[in-house]
Order: sequence, then structure tokens, then C-alpha cells
Amino acid sequence: MSEVCFVCGRRANRQCPADSVLEHGSQSAAGASLRWICSQCCGRGRRRTINCPDNCPHFRTGARAALLKLAELSQDLDFEIRNGEVLHNLRLAVSRVRRSRLPDLKDSEVRQAFTNAADTMRTRSSGLIFDFRSPDPRVQMLGDALLSVATLHERGEKQMAKTDAADLVKCLKYLERQAAAAKKQERGDTEFLELIVQSVSREYLVREPEGLVEGRLRLKPEIGRQRTSVGSCRAEKDRGKRTQTDIQASE
Ligand SMILES: [Zn+2]
Repeated sequence: MSEVCFVCGRRANRQCPADSVLEHGSQSAAGASLRWICSQCCGRGRRRTINCPDNCPHFRTGARAALLKLAELSQDLDFEIRNGEVLHNLRLAVSRVRRSRLPDLKDSEVRQAFTNAADTMRTRSSGLIFDFRSPDPRVQMLGDALLSVATLHERGEKQMAKTDAADLVKCLKYLERQAAAAKKQERGDTEFLELIVQSVSREYLVREPEGLVEGRLRLKPEIGRQRTSVGSCRAEKDRGKRTQTDIQASE
């Protein structure tokens, strides 16, 4: 067997289930068939040039690793676990803006947008209405996207987990701290964004009326249960009982 990578033409060792891949700047549909890809191109293109589906095992492994790296940046795994849904949805908002409108987004712009959204949310939680706007339209666009997700959570709309404004401020500040920590590592000006993009599922995490959670992205497959996928749409029966065991750092 000598399968070749559809990206680079070298020997391939895994199959890519993505239905669309950006190749040389153009979108091409792969149809229903899996294509062979090498591990380097898989890792490099993940959620950047390759539109990975949530159920790809290679994406899931990468997503857990990205989430762990993010948690390491802030040194607060407990906060990451407790606020997983809100953090995921805020990150997905960033990911979507980058994908659809600002492909050349930088970490510094994301950090500023987190700051502005946190400040706006904080004044709101104290009963005032004042939007911290940015003179930079790109930062403002991202800040608006973050605030609209935060507002859905605050109001519990569109089945998003109802969350106090004060807690949303903490989440935005937490993300800002991660951005700051990533900058200190000096690994380029999009390192933090790459982790964000690779850590999220395609859809917002929502609560069903009976308390089920869809699309949850887990750091580690649950043990002793059938459910092992990241971003799957299976029901979660033990909401509110998430503990440290769900998010082991040993992966
Ligand atoms: Zn390759």
C-alpha cells in the first residue's frame, strides 16, 4: 500500500473526512469519499485550510490538546471546567469572525476585544449602559461578536446556559489573561488564535429544554460510558455533575 497525501503528495498514514478543503486559495468539494493525508499536513491544516468535521478522531485529539494548552496558559483548570460552555461559545465567536470576516486577525486584536467586551459587560452588570468601543473597526467587530454571545448567555436565549453578567465578565477576563500569557511566550502573533480555532466545535453549545447539552467538547473521553466523542450530539444525563474527572490532564 502506498497511499499519498492529497496535500503534499508524500506518503500518507491517515484519512481525512473533511467535506471541504481550501486548496491554493480555492474551495474544493471532496465529495463523500475520504482522502489520504499525512500527519504533518493534517496538523498544519486543521481548521485552517481544512474544514475538519467535529467527529474526526484526529481533530478531536487535536482539540483536546489545544484546550489543555489554553488551560495551561491561565493555570486555572478548575475555572476552565466550571465555565466550559461559556468559554467554548466565546471562543467559537472568535473563530467564526476569523473564518468569515477577518482571516488575518491577530492575537493582540483578540485580546483587546476581550478587554472591551469585559468592560462593557461589567458596567452592564452594575446597572449602567456604556459600551467600550474601539477606534479600530476590526477590534470593534470582534467585540460586538463576543458581546452578542455573552448577551445570549446573560438572557439564557437560544438555549444557551443562563449566566450572570458578573460571571460573563470573569470569563472574558479569563480569556484576556490567556491571551496575555500567550503573548509572553512569544511564539508569533497568532499562536493564541490557532489554539482557539482548534479547540472549538463547529456549533455553539446549547442546553435542550430538558437539560441536555449538545456539542460538548471534552478534554477526555468519558470512561465507563458509551459516549466518547468530542462535539457529539448525545444527551448528557449528569449535567451539573461535571467534575475534575471529566477533564483529566493526562491525555
Ligand atoms: Zn501531506
